[in-house]
Amino acid sequence: MRKISIITLIFSVIASSFAIANEVNVFNARHYKADSELYSKFTNMTGIKVNLINGKSGALEKRIISEGADSSADLYITADAGRCGAMDAKGALQGGLTSAAIKDAVPKSFRTNKWVGIAKRARIIYYSPERVTGAELSGMTYEGLADPKWKGRLVIRKSSNIYNKSLVASLIKNNGKAATAAWAEGVVANMARTPTGNDRAQIMAVAAGKAKLAVANSYYIALMLSGKKGPEQQAAAKKVKPVFPNQNNRGTHMNISGGGVTKYAPNKADAIKFLEFLVTKEAQQHIVNNTFEYPMIDGVKPNKLISQFGTSFKQDTKTKVSKYYQNQKKALALMKKAGWK
Ligand code: FE
Repeated sequence: MRKISIITLIFSVIASSFAIANEVNVFNARHYKADSELYSKFTNMTGIKVNLINGKSGALEKRIISEGADSSADLYITADAGRCGAMDAKGALQGGLTSAAIKDAVPKSFRTNKWVGIAKRARIIYYSPERVTGAELSGMTYEGLADPKWKGRLVIRKSSNIYNKSLVASLIKNNGKAATAAWAEGVVANMARTPTGNDRAQIMAVAAGKAKLAVANSYYIALMLSGKKGPEQQAAAKKVKPVFPNQNNRGTHMNISGGGVTKYAPNKADAIKFLEFLVTKEAQQHIVNNTFEYPMIDGVKPNKLISQFGTSFKQDTKTKVSKYYQNQKKALALMKKAGWK
């Protein structure tokens, strides 16, 4: 027993000396190999070491919350504003993201003082030009996905998917709960199949003629076109085109990859520096070229594989992404009630 406590003591001495050293422990739920290259750039610039702990969002969240004050986590980086909001609601994040470096770079609708967007993505509609004409899609909206003219023609993933929960949460915010519940029933009636597969699987279904419309995030078409997901997905991606919904009103539904400083961060100041670095031009250029997301800041061009579909589409920047979490429970409940698997 004594041996163990001496070892524990040694470890805690080492741990506390680490906390004094310049380093930041990043709990990262995004899976991009190139992110580590980016993080070395930060180390070279600042002398702050980045310790990267990769994992699935659910597992990392559980770990941060259950370890509480003992957690080594400084920063939690994940996809979807709904997840950032959930971490905040669980009290796992602290405030303080109020520096000019963050506020000047990141528009208000994509941050709170507890978490901040580091890249943007749109949730959009895909179609095959062979089977659907541009005219049929002119003025297309999310609301229009419930139009009976698409009966049996729509593919979209499960209601439990965080991207869908955020999208439907934004519809509740804009159209109200009753209208969104009716909308969900229309969407379910229009489904070509019981929801299955990830976003890329929806795009594949449209390419294969199994459906006329798919809902999926913007970066997936570019990822598929890049060839990184293999020749079959690359060929499928070439057969579809994206549509940016709601161009005549509030704009296309936007979401983020984002990060927040954990409540018990041992290296809070360095964690904030790291977040500030992620929204610099250099870091943004790196991020968008590896993930095919849209840049969080002005003055950075998205990767060609996504910018070829247009960069000047109207984004919904009125619906704050911080509102998504608040409506997600309601969103899931009304989708389930409508029979959305
Ligand atoms: Fe994704």
